[in-house]
Amino acid sequence: VHVLGIETSCDETAAAVVKNGKEILSNVVASQMESHRRFGGVVPEIASRHHVEQITLVMEEAMRQAGVSFSDLDAIAVTAGPGLVGALLVGVNAAKALAFAHGLPLVGVHHIAGHIYANQLVAEMKFPLLALVVSGGHTELVYMEGHGAFQVIGETRDDAAGEAYDKVARALGLPYPGGPHIDRLAHEGEPVIDLPRAWLEEGSYDFSFSGLKSAVLNALHNAKQRGEEIDPRQMAASFQASVVDVLVTKTVQAAKEYGVRQVLLAGGVAANRGLRAALQEKMKELPDVELVIPPLSLCTDNAAMIAVAGTVLYQQGKRADLALNANPSLPLV
Ligand code: ATP
Ligand code: MG
Ligand code: FE
Repeated sequence: VHVLGIETSCDETAAAVVKNGKEILSNVVASQMESHRRFGGVVPEIASRHHVEQITLVMEEAMRQAGVSFSDLDAIAVTAGPGLVGALLVGVNAAKALAFAHGLPLVGVHHIAGHIYANQLVAEMKFPLLALVVSGGHTELVYMEGHGAFQVIGETRDDAAGEAYDKVARALGLPYPGGPHIDRLAHEGEPVIDLPRAWLEEGSYDFSFSGLKSAVLNALHNAKQRGEEIDPRQMAASFQASVVDVLVTKTVQAAKEYGVRQVLLAGGVAANRGLRAALQEKMKELPDVELVIPPLSLCTDNAAMIAVAGTVLYQQGKRADLALNANPSLPLV
């Protein structure tokens, strides 16, 4: 089974061809990061325009690198949501046009399902499993008893982890997106600044990062008022320690309670070195549970993950038609 995946939900124009839902034949990503950097975040209008300019080239390049023609494809999978509506529409319309022109089945994919399914490019999924999804817009613990059966057992009540990283990075004067910069600084510093950890109610798998973000902003502000300097490396290390502590503790706790066979890490923040190392360490408490962590390039937005999730849906007989629309708040379940 060969599936062409298309992803345009945010600021990456991406297309990929994946074989049998696990073998990458091509994975092309055109990032717009440079265009958004001077605004300190993604500007929706600019994102849409870049997608329009890039989409045809990116799809052609993915097909060329994969060495396949449209007659070799079994389906076209596209991110239908969630994301920026104008950005999503570019991918959805491109996918519809191709599916129509080549008489191919069309499959609509949830972006977060894609992030989770990136793991299948690394290891076979073993159910029941638990996925920790940490990205720019989401922070969720997802329990799965089978393919496509998503159960959200915990989620953020305010900011997403990536959002918190980007806001703290901005306060430290680091360029957008700030996550990787905080990660780098954190490794040069020590977590000596005392910052809060939002555990929430006993037994809750929900998250909250806005209190932590405010604590960092206040500490920076107060230091400035007093004419003192806070070492950005120590602030980055302390912030990262707080985020990682809560994420890892809740994930392992849930893995124990739900008796899963596998724990998956997903989303852009899964690229975080501190998180990867801490989760690996804490998972030693569960020697029988397999931990899967995708390589960095499959953690951030890409189309290979959309092709994989699309392959699973295609094999389950799920089809979209030419009425498929972009849904900026598409629910996972
Ligand atoms: P969503 O997937 O929720 O729709 P998104 O697609 O914008 O949001 P991703 O591309 O999955 O998000 O992830 C981007 C986020 O990951 C950004 O917030 C970025 O700062 C963060 N990120 C990337 N690398 C790292 C890192 N090494 N450490 C921490 N955060 C990181
Ligand atoms: Mg992005
Ligand atoms: Fe994403």
